Amino acid sequence: MPTNQINLADEQATLEFGARLARASFLYRDKLYPDKENPAAEAGQGVPTLGGIIYLHGDLGAGKTTLTRGLMRGYGYEGAVKSPTYTLVEPYEFGQCNIYHFDLYRLADPEEVEYLGIDDYFSPSNLCLIEWAEQGKGLLPPADLDIEISIDGTARLLSCQSLSEKGERIAQRLWV
Ligand code: ADP
Ligand code: MG
Repeated sequence: MPTNQINLADEQATLEFGARLARASFLYRDKLYPDKENPAAEAGQGVPTLGGIIYLHGDLGAGKTTLTRGLMRGYGYEGAVKSPTYTLVEPYEFGQCNIYHFDLYRLADPEEVEYLGIDDYFSPSNLCLIEWAEQGKGLLPPADLDIEISIDGTARLLSCQSLSEKGERIAQRLWV
């Protein structure tokens, strides 16, 4: 399936790309909120989402959490977005959507993923971002979008591959 790339010159560019990814994953993006900010997002209620599984690959410090922070801002969440390094998952549950941010870096044994109660998180209507998905190999559902970030000084090169129909739908909105 197609791969797209973008150069992200600085942290701000990565945050903006995250927000763009958020908008590309909105359920009603085109119909309801053509160019305006979403009022539900402004009210901290999130935005109805297409859902999906997004794997985030890249070395420590590549910007996976930064991108997720940008995405959460795009969904109207202004609070802290920290890496769930020890808890493995940080839930963001709003009136309009559920978003789950995983960081499996410290996963000692892939079986630990099972204790997380996987099925609840990976309902198709939820949006899941998974840092270090390779650590949960074999236990995670397949990705709709696979994002790889590589470090080049303060710039980043981001590659995004769509791996399903849903991923392709998001990608088509993301890269127009
Ligand atoms: P990861 O989650 O991949 O380990 P983080 O997002 O936590 O990475 O951290 C990225 C670090 O790199 C931050 O300290 C951020 O300020 C810095 N940084 C520098 N340039 C960029 C860039 N272009 N995009 C994202 N982060 C950048
Ligand atoms: Mg991180």
